[in-house]
Amino acid sequence: MQSIQAYLDDKLGGTVRRPGWWIPSDRQFWRRVDRRGEDECWLWTGYVHRSGYGWFERWGDRVPATHAALRFADGVDVPSGMVVCHRCDNPGCVNPAHLWIGTHTDNMQDMIAKGRGGGKGGRDAARGEDHGMAKLSQAEVDDIRALHAGGGVTQAALSRQFGVSRAQIQRILSGARWGTRIP
Ligand SMILES: [Zn+2]
Repeated sequence: MQSIQAYLDDKLGGTVRRPGWWIPSDRQFWRRVDRRGEDECWLWTGYVHRSGYGWFERWGDRVPATHAALRFADGVDVPSGMVVCHRCDNPGCVNPAHLWIGTHTDNMQDMIAKGRGGGKGGRDAARGEDHGMAKLSQAEVDDIRALHAGGGVTQAALSRQFGVSRAQIQRILSGARWGTRIP
């Protein structure tokens, strides 16, 4: 009778060495998150780079903790070329409700609007659209459409990421209010 370790070494070419190898990635991830109330920031307690952003590492894969949070909470993979931005301005936070997927440009605009990028103007200046809808910029609306068109992202996940109601997501996707902007 082989030991389990010897069996796995044999099967997996000796790559299984670390204690806790059997814990599924999502559990491994969430046990390093200081989960609090739905609206509060959930701080990543694992490895944090000096930039202030957390990283989740497993099996030699290293991904930003924010990307892992969206994957494990919503089943969303961040499309390549897109970044995860924080509503709460707290780089260490991985609460999925505080995260949204955007482009680098969105992120820069967001940082400037929040006074982190050294630019001028407040949030309102950066988000100039006066459209009567809750707090979404045209860029965010475009992102919602692009993410949805890309497939694999539910309306519930979009609603959570962008902090708006599902009804609003539905309106955006159906173009009820933004009809003239649909290509
Ligand atoms: Zn937060």
